[in-house]
Parts: sequence; C-alpha cells; structure tokens
Amino acid sequence: MGSIESNHREREETMTYIITEPCVGLKDAACVDVCPVDCIYTREQDDQFFINPDECIDCAACEPVCPVTAIFAEDAVPGDQQEYVAKNYDYFKDKDLSDLSRG
Ligand code: SF4
Ligand code: SF4
Repeated sequence: MGSIESNHREREETMTYIITEPCVGLKDAACVDVCPVDCIYTREQDDQFFINPDECIDCAACEPVCPVTAIFAEDAVPGDQQEYVAKNYDYFKDKDLSDLSRG
C-alpha cells in the first residue's frame, strides 16, 4: 500500500498538461503563442503538438485557447483519450529539444 501512495504523490508532483487527438492534423499553434515557458513542441513530420512534462509549469494558460479542446490537465484527460498521456510523455524520451520547433 505504501508504494501505491508514494507513486500517487509522485504523479501529482509531476503533473503536466496533455495534448490529445483533436490536435491531430490541425496544429494551429494557438497554444504555443500563450505558453509562458515555451514548452509546446512539434516537428514538421509530426501530426500534432506535444507538451514537455519536464518544462510545463501547469499554469493552464493553453487549455482555453485551443479551438478544438485538445488540451487537458493530465488528471482530467477523457477516458477515450488516455493513450495520449503516454504518447505525450514518450515523445520527449528519445528527442533532443534543440531538434524540435514551436510552430
Ligand atoms: S499548462 Fe502552461 S506551461 Fe504547461 S503547456 Fe500549457 S501554457 Fe505551457
Ligand atoms: S491550440 Fe489545440 S489544436 Fe492548436 S496546436 Fe495547440 S493543442 Fe493543437
């Protein structure tokens, strides 16, 4: 039980915002313009933007500006969009931030 509680705490401390399916193919970058820490990235070959969980300060500024409601706090991602949580985290595992762009 102890480990479950500590895992839960760890997740809360590292919470981030997540970009989900409605962004796919749209990529209008409205969120990029309002992010105070410039932590929303993509590459030309990617079909959506992603939020870097290590840089996101959980400020929520991006959430209301998305025209297709693609952005959610990690703990509020809808059930049918859960795969995008891992997709968002995994995106940054094998990439150098200098290879990514914000628009
Ligand atoms: S929650 Fe704030 S810091 Fe995180 S991606 Fe959105 S605008 Fe940027
Ligand atoms: S505002 Fe929404 S649709 Fe536009 S790039 Fe950001 S997440 Fe994607």
